[in-house]
Amino acid sequence: MTTTMTMPMTMPMTTSPTTMMTTRMTTRMTTPTTMSMMTMMTTTSIIGITAIREHWGDEYPDCNGDEQSPIDLTGETETDLTDITFNYQSSPLEIVNNGHTIVANVEAGSSIVSDGVTYNLLQFHFHAQSEHQVDGVSYPMEMHLVHKSADEVLAVVGVFLEGGGAENGSFSTVLDNMPAEEEGTEEPADDVDPADLLPAAKTYYKYDGSLTTPPCSEGVKWHVLETPVELSDAQIAQFTDLFDHNYRPVQDLNGRTLELDNTPS
Ligand SMILES: [Zn+2]
Repeated sequence: MTTTMTMPMTMPMTTSPTTMMTTRMTTRMTTPTTMSMMTMMTTTSIIGITAIREHWGDEYPDCNGDEQSPIDLTGETETDLTDITFNYQSSPLEIVNNGHTIVANVEAGSSIVSDGVTYNLLQFHFHAQSEHQVDGVSYPMEMHLVHKSADEVLAVVGVFLEGGGAENGSFSTVLDNMPAEEEGTEEPADDVDPADLLPAAKTYYKYDGSLTTPPCSEGVKWHVLETPVELSDAQIAQFTDLFDHNYRPVQDLNGRTLELDNTPS
């Protein structure tokens, strides 16, 4: 029950699904977060997920747009994309449990360059299972590194995380300092260089999409790294003990261009 205990339940577990839906929607009216969806997904059915997804679009019209994220990464065009330049540096972290994920805020100073545009790293956070799929298959987790340009364009780098490996020390500072309670904040003593959280090979999928939570704003430059990073099963469990269904289902590509870099960095 760890997962449930760490989420603010809006009603007793014994409430019927119909009543739960009504109450959660009411809650959502005053708290426009994805919390209601997360709780729904961990406790009830596919029907509940569908209802909540439709509901996002009611209040946030962009969520019904044609260029939404995540997507199934399939049918891509292989091409020689310009490599992403990662200019990351070690930073203190402010690790926050915002009720629907764990966010690690970083100090200013880290950035990427993609297609000649510099995007500054703001934060990274996690989803379980992965939001993007590859040929219909999900990974246990996905990390999103969120960046913004001077022109306020968002660029997200997605990194698939899988278990089955040895303990990955690069992730220990984050995983060992995740507040279990909503609104909890930790400031670990050790700094973290986000570059250490990336796979060595940085070939990536590229497409234009959206935020994966309301307001689902489009115009987000997605870069999903092809190579997953390996963690231990115990490390995956550290996160999924807190959040194990905080992902949005894949959305239609709707004819968008999906490219995969075919030249390793
Ligand atoms: Zn995300």
